[in-house]
Amino acid sequence: MKPLGPIPAGFAAIDGELAIAGRKASDIVAQAGTTPLFVYARERLDARLAELRAAMPTQLDIHYAVKANPFGPLLAHMAGLVDGFDVASGGELALAEAAGIDLARVSFAGPGKRDAELELAIIKGVTLNLESAREADRALAIAERLGVVPRLAIRVNPDFDLKGSGMKMGGGAKQFGIDADKVPALARRLVEAGAEWRGFHIFAGSQALDAAAIIETQAQTLELAARLAQEAGVALPKCNLGGGFGIPYFPGDKPVDVAAVGAALAERFADLPAVLRETRFCIELGRYLVGEAGVYLTRIVDRKESHGEIFLVTDGGLHHQLAASGNFGTVVRRNYPSCIATRFDAPVEEEASVVGCLCTPLDRLADKGGFPRAEEGDLVAVFCAGAYGASASPVHFLGQGPATEILI
Ligand SMILES: *Cc1c(COP(=O)(O)O)cnc(C)c1O
Repeated sequence: MKPLGPIPAGFAAIDGELAIAGRKASDIVAQAGTTPLFVYARERLDARLAELRAAMPTQLDIHYAVKANPFGPLLAHMAGLVDGFDVASGGELALAEAAGIDLARVSFAGPGKRDAELELAIIKGVTLNLESAREADRALAIAERLGVVPRLAIRVNPDFDLKGSGMKMGGGAKQFGIDADKVPALARRLVEAGAEWRGFHIFAGSQALDAAAIIETQAQTLELAARLAQEAGVALPKCNLGGGFGIPYFPGDKPVDVAAVGAALAERFADLPAVLRETRFCIELGRYLVGEAGVYLTRIVDRKESHGEIFLVTDGGLHHQLAASGNFGTVVRRNYPSCIATRFDAPVEEEASVVGCLCTPLDRLADKGGFPRAEEGDLVAVFCAGAYGASASPVHFLGQGPATEILI
């Protein structure tokens, strides 16, 4: 038997069934009228933000990285919970606008922004996190043509990365951001060109669980921001310190000690160099805010045996939950947390693999896990489905169609 990832805290059984936000999985499916289904729970989002706010210094703003989950009702709910939003495409910008988010609270990072995206952002008062000197030229030219003062920040490619992170996005040659040594001159140029100068965005990596690594990276980020602002000789109205807080997906993973991160940051904030004393700081988080608020529910269509192994064949699969199948940025396939939702408190009775309905051997949601005996019609839950699920999976592959999403 292979271990399953740890089920996030706060899930209980009602009548033997998995309950999400106090409601039985089968009732939620009945309300939605279909499987496969992504369920996102407001109360889990609220609780996560409250916990994080309590741990972080009060002067730190918290931004949500829309990339993690752009579902409209979830974005609208997040608008009441976070201080800002970070988008990474014109499409995400449109989703944020459609969700009623005040676009003055939005910043836009990401390489390869097209002129139409720059124009839209400038017209809407969105802060552009510039990814190259050429992009800066194009933004300034578009703003001049429109007669609008653009809000511009520089995304810095730092000289370090976030240790232990699942995805490194800083350090060395990168398609993201502007190399630190070129930043001061560009910052001066933006100010001289009459832009509304918004400061730095410094993002060093993603999916880190080790508080010590996050603390070290935040300290390096603050030092870099101070050095670059000093060299540029410009004030720093804002500084986005990145994020990178991970969530436990796999056996043995432990949650980030956010209290330790918050305490270390509070110490730093109490002792800032002069050049940063007027700066407003934020962190931008995706999966940490929404990942554990989501559950993917799929129904067993077929129970079969092959060469002594049990396969629970579901109506879902990697076209909705690519990451759980181990095909999204992982080298060694390990099991996400999952369970038989309709037999949540039953003991483990057998080894079984949960597979999807796609005609590819890659489509495996749980490999040789320990489960209670499940039958056709039972529901399977895959946890940690609130981030990088529906929007980060190849939904057109094999023509099975999208999953339904619901915010409860
Ligand atoms: C992907 C990304 C995020 C969100 O990452 P998470 O691991 O979901 O927190 C935040 N900022 C930038 C610039 C990103 O590219």
